Amino acid sequence: MKVRCAPYISCVLVLTAVLPGFGQTSSMQAPPLIAPPPKPATHVAIHAGRLLDPRTGNYASNVFIVIDGDRVASVDASAPSGLAVIDLSLQTVLPGLTDCHAHILGNEKDESPTSGLRMSSPMAALWGYRNLQVWLDHGFTSMRDAGESDLAYGQLALRDAIKQGLIRGPRIVSAGNFISVTGGHCDSDPLAPDKALPRRPNLADTVDEVSNAVRHDIKYGADWIKLMATGGVLDPWSDYNVEELSEAQMARAVEVAHRAGKHVMAHAEGTEGIKAAVRAGVDSIEHGTMLDEEGATLMEQRGTWLVPTLYTFQFGLQHDAEFGADPVSVAKEKALISRQQPSFQRALNHHLKIAYGTDLDPDYSSMEFSALVRGGMSPLGAIQAATVNAASLLESQDTGVVEPGKFADIIAVSGDPLKDIAVMEHIVFVMKGGEIVRDSVHVTK
Ligand SMILES: [Zn+2]
Repeated sequence: MKVRCAPYISCVLVLTAVLPGFGQTSSMQAPPLIAPPPKPATHVAIHAGRLLDPRTGNYASNVFIVIDGDRVASVDASAPSGLAVIDLSLQTVLPGLTDCHAHILGNEKDESPTSGLRMSSPMAALWGYRNLQVWLDHGFTSMRDAGESDLAYGQLALRDAIKQGLIRGPRIVSAGNFISVTGGHCDSDPLAPDKALPRRPNLADTVDEVSNAVRHDIKYGADWIKLMATGGVLDPWSDYNVEELSEAQMARAVEVAHRAGKHVMAHAEGTEGIKAAVRAGVDSIEHGTMLDEEGATLMEQRGTWLVPTLYTFQFGLQHDAEFGADPVSVAKEKALISRQQPSFQRALNHHLKIAYGTDLDPDYSSMEFSALVRGGMSPLGAIQAATVNAASLLESQDTGVVEPGKFADIIAVSGDPLKDIAVMEHIVFVMKGGEIVRDSVHVTK
């Protein structure tokens, strides 16, 4: 450590002298050892053939979006003078998208129960870096990580590295590790009893153990707490029908998290677990695959969010075996899928607040749009789920719509997504915070 301290101190002194504000940080995180290369200040305009306001579904035609730094400065009908103009006059322009149920780390194409045991935390984070570029490429400029099984919290390191400008990636808010009962959906130890791994801090079998697990996540920087309210599919031992964490345990998690200004999401497939999680006060139900009338009514009354993740189950039915899932998991998937559509229809009937989430390899991150529409949502509703609704769930004031003062998170598609939602699978332009991260419009011209 001594060897490393000396250059660090001198580096800080030099940077403090030359960079105003360097070394002044409001959080507990140390400033980056080496300042990221300064980005040229963006001052450009985008000529949008049409710009969608997802709040209303209205298009503004032939408008100029002026970008100053990382924000939108103005949206006007007339061309600004003296500015470079990015020509998207043949495209439909929308705000950047948000995936509210992402798992950043590791290889999402390896679904075997032992995949986590064969990948180190650093390798999972490197996969995470790769995965984040794919999400960006598909127009996802923000996301919520829905929990990981990484005791080193690689997802929080990636979140912070992006914030500090060290690497490129979407804006991230993140859960910590999955909080599960012993032998529950995210116990994550598939070994025989005489080969078992040391007990991990994400396991909680009593109300007080839940407090410890929640505080452990908060201590290391989680924005959200992820609870396993029921069993799940991609492990060979849990039963998705069964409530796992008790209502009292989940209520304690909500109490501890909310007191610390954090939010709580619950993986919930089975009917009783969904209702227990809602009564316990969680902020969002993930999947909700076996939602009944009583549960939908409860969610409507309490304003609980639903992140339905429809496509991951549909995709899994075709590809779980090919991706190495245990035959028991494949059988569970087949048995559960018939419950999905009636539950989603119930959610729509009760006008639940719905946000977009994939729970899938980022190569398929755009596929949920069509799945939502096939399930009965309007194309505008599906786009709202990934923009304004997602911003509301994540309490982001700066994303979800393109207007002055918001982040310049802007994407474009060819065609009209309100008429053909499948065009969302072919994003041709992505800007995050004023920086162009994809431009297939001008490359191909
Ligand atoms: Zn998930």
